This record gives sequence, structure tokens and C-alpha cells, in this order.
Amino acid sequence: AVGCLLAVIVVSGIIALILAVVGVKDVYLPPGTKYGMVFDAGSSHTALYIYQWPANKENGTGIVSQAEACTVPGPGISSYAENPANAGASLRACLDKAMTIIPAEQQRETPTYLGATAGMRLLREQNSTKADLVFAEVSKTIQQYPVDFRGARILTGNEEGSFGWITINYLLETLVKFSFAGKWIRPQAAEVLGALDLGGASTQITFQPSGTIEDNSTEVFFRLYGTNYSIYTHSYLCYGRDQALKMLLVALRKNLTSQQISHPCYPRGYEENVTAAALYDSPCVPAPAAHDPSQILTVRGTGAPAECRNAVQKLFNFTACGANRTCGFNGVYQPPEHGQFFAFSGFYYTFYFLNLTNGQPLSAVNATIWGFCTKGWKELQASFPQESHRRLHNYCPSAFYILTLLHEGYKFDEQMWSNIHFRQKAANTDIGWTLGYMLNLTNMMPAEAPEQVKGQQH
Ligand code: AMP
Repeated sequence: AVGCLLAVIVVSGIIALILAVVGVKDVYLPPGTKYGMVFDAGSSHTALYIYQWPANKENGTGIVSQAEACTVPGPGISSYAENPANAGASLRACLDKAMTIIPAEQQRETPTYLGATAGMRLLREQNSTKADLVFAEVSKTIQQYPVDFRGARILTGNEEGSFGWITINYLLETLVKFSFAGKWIRPQAAEVLGALDLGGASTQITFQPSGTIEDNSTEVFFRLYGTNYSIYTHSYLCYGRDQALKMLLVALRKNLTSQQISHPCYPRGYEENVTAAALYDSPCVPAPAAHDPSQILTVRGTGAPAECRNAVQKLFNFTACGANRTCGFNGVYQPPEHGQFFAFSGFYYTFYFLNLTNGQPLSAVNATIWGFCTKGWKELQASFPQESHRRLHNYCPSAFYILTLLHEGYKFDEQMWSNIHFRQKAANTDIGWTLGYMLNLTNMMPAEAPEQVKGQQH
């Protein structure tokens, strides 16, 4: 120990001597790294995002990056309603992984959040006691780890949309930017981007309109770095990909006495069985008055794109709006779209699979989807041998659903379509609400611009 101490003293002395010789007065320690974690407890699955940033630059932007994204094995936490302890246990693998990434001495000061979205909104609507029990169990598990756990809760639809918008604009530095002169500045020419998010159980549209917002319930205000933003956001519950496809299947069940469902969006030759209990397990699809939950229904694909398109369109009410208001669908107010948009999560997965993320015009997108939806099941399996069969039959209905949602639901016409950019990541970070949520809760996005940001002088 004495030897070590002596060595440290000698090395420090040499460093001090060198610094004195080159004329450096103050010695800055390396800034060090801080961490934060957010669980995205979605309807179809949970993911843990680990973020990192230099400890001395908390009040800046464009400096928080993603250290790791860990996919929690198994389904979303709302699927554990009958067995909540397992929801907690499912988080362990990712928490264990996080403990190997975040240095031990940093763990106790790592703010950690769990945010749940539409899957838990639906469970709460069905049975709030069961939803509370799931939260109790996931919280119990996270509390067993040496982190600064700051709670598990359900985000509102408006929060989910807004924080996705913040994430994108933070990563693209459209809100504030670190200038060459070493100061935080508001980028003059940068236009903020809109956010289009397709989850499993809800979908969000968020953007800064050019005019006023006429419905308060869709308006959110932010003051960020000395600038006020008035943002339009709406979350459509039940219009996430999985719930929409469930509503489609129920709508295709025309005859309640028949055991058969013909599905024009599934490929010819595809067949699956589903129990009535599994079909009617969500508030998005009210069960028929008298039905036998154990009944087994056989779903058969017919691969008929025109019929598929018609059936998908019927999921939306395009006429429920008053005459003098611009609208999305189902009577929801929406101002005219403005600016460029990033479409991520479910929008990206399906369009990436179909090779439609390279800025193709609407006509080409339409033609590709139409062509894909005419393929038979055998041909499809042969064309995509490496694709999980669990998903393959769903790409056609998902694609028609996305097309209808964006074009007829959100009213992106041919020209506006070119403003949609299908992306999963920006600045090496996954796009979603989690980063915006953490930046907000840890106060890393101050309302006022910092007067002066100290930089290290070289
Ligand atoms: P998430 O963003 O995880 O909430 O997922 C949104 C929707 O995309 C859900 O309906 C998922 O089932 C679906 N999804 C997730 N991953 C993929 C993938 N790799 N390919 C196709 N769909 C996916």
C-alpha cells in the first residue's frame, strides 16, 4: 500500500511539473459519464433504453446518446394481467444487462423510469385492479436493483405523442444546437419535424401546424431554450397495428354462427385457428352478446387486395367531422399538416420489410403493396425463407392499414407524402418517446437558454 501511495505521489508530481512547464493553470478532470434508463412498456413488448451523456453538459442538446437498447423477452406487461409477478420477473434480464454497462459507482445515481402506453391503457380500462398489480410487480423488481427508481406509470396519449416529437427534434438539433463558436444557439433555418408513431395498440400524430390549433385537447405547449412551441398531438387508441388488425378480423367475421372467417388480406393458402376468447380479449373489439369463448374459428386467406383495401377503409370513419373543421378521422380535429415528418416504430418495420423506406412516391408504394398482397402463401414463404412466419402473413394487412391511415386518415396527399421519412433511428438512437420523457423528467431540456455555457479551454 505504501508503495502504491508513493507511486501515485511521484506520478502526480510529474504531471504537475509537465503542466507547469506548458503553462496550464487549471487542471480539468475528465468530465465522466452519467446514465439514465427508461423502460418502454408497450403493448406488444417492453424495451429498456440506457442513455448516457457527459456529466458536465447536462443543459445541452444533442449530447445524450443511446448506450444500449435491450429487448425484454416475452410479451408486453399488460399480457401478464393474470400473472403479474411474471411481468416483474421478465424485466430481470435487461436490468442485469444494464448493471454490466453502467459502472457500479454510477448505478445509484442513475434515474430509472418505466412508462407504459396503450396496452396498459386498455388493461386499465378493462380492469384497473389488475393494471395496478402489474405496476406493483414491475416496480418491486426494479427496486431490487441499485438504481434511482423514479416510478412506473401510464403515459397519456398526448404525452406519448409529445415526447416522441421532442426525441426527434432533440436528436436532429432543430430546437437548439451547439455552435462552432462553442455556444448553444437556436438554429435559425431549422424547421421542426413532425412525428408519426405506430405502436401495437395506439398511433400518434404530432406536429407544429402553421396556423392556430382549434381544439384545446389536441394542443400542447413547450417552452424550450427560450422559444415557445405550440404543438398539435393526438393519440388514437385501438389504432395501433395489432389492435387495428384485430378490429379488421372481427369486422371480417360477418356471420356469427359460422366457424369460418375469409380474410382478403391474408395470402391464399394461409390458414390459422383462433379462439373466440383470444379474438374478443380487448376493449377495442366488443364481444357479441352471446358467444362461446372456447369456440375455435378458422381464418382462411383469400389474397384479394381490392377487398382487403375496402375492409381496411371500413375501420375508419372519414365523415364524422363537422363541415368547417379540418379533420383526421373518427371526428378528431386535425389542422393541415405542415413540414417534414419522421414515421417510426410500426410504420418503419412494415415499410422496411417491403423496401419502401427510400422515399418512393405514393403511387409506387401503392403498386408495391398491391403486388405483395396478391402473392400466395407458398410463394411468400419461398420468397422470404429467413422471415419469421409469425409475422409474414401480417405484412399485407399492415401495409394496407398504414397506407389507409396515412393517406386517408391523416390526409397525406401525393405531394405531402414525399415529406414523410420512414426512420427507425436518428443520431444512432432509436426514435420513440423514451428519450424525450427522460430529458423532460430530469430537467435536461430547460425552458430558458443557459446564459453562458462553460466550455473547456484548450
Ligand atoms: P412497437 O413499436 O414495439 O410498439 O411495435 C409496433 C408494432 O410493430 C407492433 O404491432 C409490433 O407487433 C410490430 N412489430 C414490432 N417489431 C416488428 C418487426 N420487426 N417487424 C414487423 N412488425 C414489428
